[in-house]
Amino acid sequence: MNSSVMEEKILKKVMKHVPIGLVVSREGRKRKVYYINQMAHEMLGYTREEYIQKVEGGWSKFMDLDLKDIIRDYHDKIMAGEPFEVTVPAMTKDGGVRWLMLQIVIRMELEPVSYITMLDVTDRMEESRRQAREREYLRECASRDSMTRLLNRGTMESLIQRKLECAGNNGAYAYITLDIDNFKQINDLYGHWVGDGVILGLSGILSERFGGGAYVGRMGGDEFAVFLTEANDRDAIQQQAQEVLRELRQQKERMGLSEAPSASIGIAFYPEGGTSFQELYHRADEALYQVKKEKKNGVAIYA
Ligand code: GH3
Ligand code: MG
Repeated sequence: MNSSVMEEKILKKVMKHVPIGLVVSREGRKRKVYYINQMAHEMLGYTREEYIQKVEGGWSKFMDLDLKDIIRDYHDKIMAGEPFEVTVPAMTKDGGVRWLMLQIVIRMELEPVSYITMLDVTDRMEESRRQAREREYLRECASRDSMTRLLNRGTMESLIQRKLECAGNNGAYAYITLDIDNFKQINDLYGHWVGDGVILGLSGILSERFGGGAYVGRMGGDEFAVFLTEANDRDAIQQQAQEVLRELRQQKERMGLSEAPSASIGIAFYPEGGTSFQELYHRADEALYQVKKEKKNGVAIYA
């Protein structure tokens, strides 16, 4: 056997057994497949004929691959005949999805001819997505209070600080601080478990009432905070704070307590109550302290 025949035989074997798909096709309106190896169609479960038909019907019909985008994004590489890489989901014959990493070279011959190698990277993609989900979960855990799932103190501080730094002159914000009244007594009388129930009750009330457009956090122990980013109607906000107290008192029956739980609330408005987190926090706390000192179970605004 002469060496060129031998070489061709080996090449054929290689092209059949390498775990990489290879497709050579003329691009343009009348796409024509010049060559495909076995792996190219097998990795998506098609027969050779089905796959050729698919490719000639248009890449974007079975892969998330838009040629217009490719030409725009890789224009220089295409013009220079250099390879570029894209990773795309592709539809399998049975309706599933595999992720393929494509190395593409387009050569401008009489018409553009693409040389594409394909590697199935589905496992790698799934692993990196799993890791991303895990990182997201850990970030989420680190930013929230583990018991109530409300934002924790550190997160509240940095979110509020960031908001205030971007605030223009016409920003209208409110920082509301809440502290449960005589909470130690609730723990002592009914046990820690019931105390936890009251904390969860209040966190539910706050999430329900303010959850959407506000930051709601547990600042520690029996102290909670709400930061409102649309705080023009101050009377309405004070009213809402009173509503929170009313709903908290209703926990009495639900928790089987002999006395209704209550809380004290202090509110500081931006900008006159402070322009930083620290200032708003301390001013709202001063207002809260007034309520605690007088009769508890009430709302005060820092003035
Ligand atoms: P005041 O009306 O002045 O606020 O009195 P208080 O008894 O509520 O006093 P304070 O707010 O200082 O006490 C908070 C208590 O909350 C102290 C701590 O034992 C209790 N506590 C903190 N974290 C938890 C928790 O996760 N669960 C329960 N059950 N109790 C907690
Ligand atoms: Mg308290």
